[in-house]
Amino acid sequence: MPDVFADLVGQDEAVTELRRAAAAAAAVLRAGAVDRAPALVAAGPASAAEPAEVDPSTGMTHAWIFTGPPGSGRSVAARAFAAALQCVHGTGCGECPGCRTTMGGTHADVRLVVPEGLSIGVGEMRALVLRAASTPSGGRWQVVVIEDADRLTEAAGNALLKAIEEPPPRTVFLLCAPSTHPDDISVTIRSRCRVVPLRQPPATAVAEVLVRRDGIAPDVAQWAAAAAQGHVGRARRLARDPEARKRREAVLAVPRRLTGVGAAFDAASALIEAAEAEAEASVTESDTTERAALETALGAGGTGRGASGAIRGAAGQLKELEKRQKSRATRAQRDALDRALVDLAGFYRDALTMALRAPVAPVHTDTAALAGAGAQKWDAEGSLRRLEAVLACRAAIEANVKPRIAVEAMMLALWKG
Ligand SMILES: [Zn+2]
Repeated sequence: MPDVFADLVGQDEAVTELRRAAAAAAAVLRAGAVDRAPALVAAGPASAAEPAEVDPSTGMTHAWIFTGPPGSGRSVAARAFAAALQCVHGTGCGECPGCRTTMGGTHADVRLVVPEGLSIGVGEMRALVLRAASTPSGGRWQVVVIEDADRLTEAAGNALLKAIEEPPPRTVFLLCAPSTHPDDISVTIRSRCRVVPLRQPPATAVAEVLVRRDGIAPDVAQWAAAAAQGHVGRARRLARDPEARKRREAVLAVPRRLTGVGAAFDAASALIEAAEAEAEASVTESDTTERAALETALGAGGTGRGASGAIRGAAGQLKELEKRQKSRATRAQRDALDRALVDLAGFYRDALTMALRAPVAPVHTDTAALAGAGAQKWDAEGSLRRLEAVLACRAAIEANVKPRIAVEAMMLALWKG
């Protein structure tokens, strides 16, 4: 029976470290050391009774950061570790109630923060920190998982830092971020956490998990794993969702379409609009449901005594909801556009490796011939310049340049070379 770490693809070192930490955490609980020590971080070896099992360097600590490129499995790792901490066997067996409820997202002592907008606000963080300080109802740990910790606002980061600096004895914070660069996570938070770096998993490992877990045909799994460049979730979508495949094909048709200035601007518009459409499809449904739910809760259209005051309050809440939804829509658009740019970068990377005759497999096997033709026409230098133009566009959007402006500049650079 696969345990909770089974879906963490191609991350053997990280899994070894997490298993060791889970065992150490279980030993700490058995020894009851937590309740005597001021905090877990100071606990080190659990007690004199368990000298051999727990070594402070490999043992448990109360704050962790999982880093790695998108799709490498940061949140999968954090969730699996949370399950192992709640596992009655202390191993992450995958079968006990602790493992099952954690993996299913219903464990009472595991809180998961998934930002929907561009940032995690201070209000949300304060409430979370407060609840995390309570005694774990299951008798093990209070675990707080923060996905995309790089999206914490400064104030939220400070609220979190305070909790990490003076951790309640049974609370464990698991943060996920692309890297430990100060842009992603503050130096002070970083200094209080143990870092678990994840790698971009090899395509073979991604394909293997698609076959084993999702029942996808091996040839489709191999193609999708390569095309997704190590992004497990994206590989699964490409293998299963015809719409995702269609969008990818449209992106990979861009290099062929760049025949002049006008065509470059057209290609930019098409790319932006496709990202907008994809984002809209992903958020419209939840927007409508949320608004309806809030209106019902507020008793929309009510009259009578107190109604005017209620309406004033309601207007504020609706405005707040709209703000949140707008932020989420912007995020979804940027994510969709970024996926398209990663696909496009893969194409020019293929052209570059072919121009250099590097013995590596192409990212996009289905456009390899086109990339080969590009390699001949542009040579290594021209291919590299184009690859750099795509990467520069990603960086510009990340730095808040208006997406349309960044994409137009990129398309012109791709056309001119
Ligand atoms: Zn278990």
